[in-house]
Amino acid sequence: MARITGKVCKLCRREGMKLFLKGQRCFSEKCGINRRDYPPGAHTRPRKTTDFYVQLREKQKAKRIYGVLERQFQRYFQAAVRQKGNTGENLLVLLERRLDNVVLNLGLSHSRFDARQMVTHGHVHVNGKRMDIPSYLVKPGDEISLSRKDKIRKRAAESVEMNRGQPVPGWLEATPTDLKGRVVALPKREDVAHPINEQLIIELCSR
Ligand code: SF4
Repeated sequence: MARITGKVCKLCRREGMKLFLKGQRCFSEKCGINRRDYPPGAHTRPRKTTDFYVQLREKQKAKRIYGVLERQFQRYFQAAVRQKGNTGENLLVLLERRLDNVVLNLGLSHSRFDARQMVTHGHVHVNGKRMDIPSYLVKPGDEISLSRKDKIRKRAAESVEMNRGQPVPGWLEATPTDLKGRVVALPKREDVAHPINEQLIIELCSR
């Protein structure tokens, strides 16, 4: 599946907020938003803010936070519509259950891109089996662990150290000393820490 490439700080600048796509750099003075707090591109005059524009920006923000492109996002939306309950919440829960997101939330990677690469390179195991699909949806009871390769474990240990003090969502249970974690429940809306207004996204995707 395709992924977001290119200069990611531009994405934050476009959304006018930090999307935390570069790990520790996002907390430093070098953060792209700290350095240039205006949208990227040559034509930076203020835009007309129509309802459509506001809804579009919300959708783009969600896609960028979770690192998914349009086609895959539409699949999540269709899956959310098919599920019972609130479609917006279903959508966020589906995004939150992605394996790369879980690796990041367990503090085993430097950034979301790092988490995705760990998965695609086959360094992440689910229930003891190699799983190289970043969009794999975890379910309660799944055990997430890392391969035995020294290089990978050393880097993951650095990430754990770097992320020390960051809260782990309640639906996950982290065991940092063993570089692993467990899914204890399905995430709920309140477990999604990102500032996303899912209602605006649903209004746009339902047009
Ligand atoms: Fe966004 Fe991080 Fe770049 Fe800052 S450093 S603009 S938060 S990706």
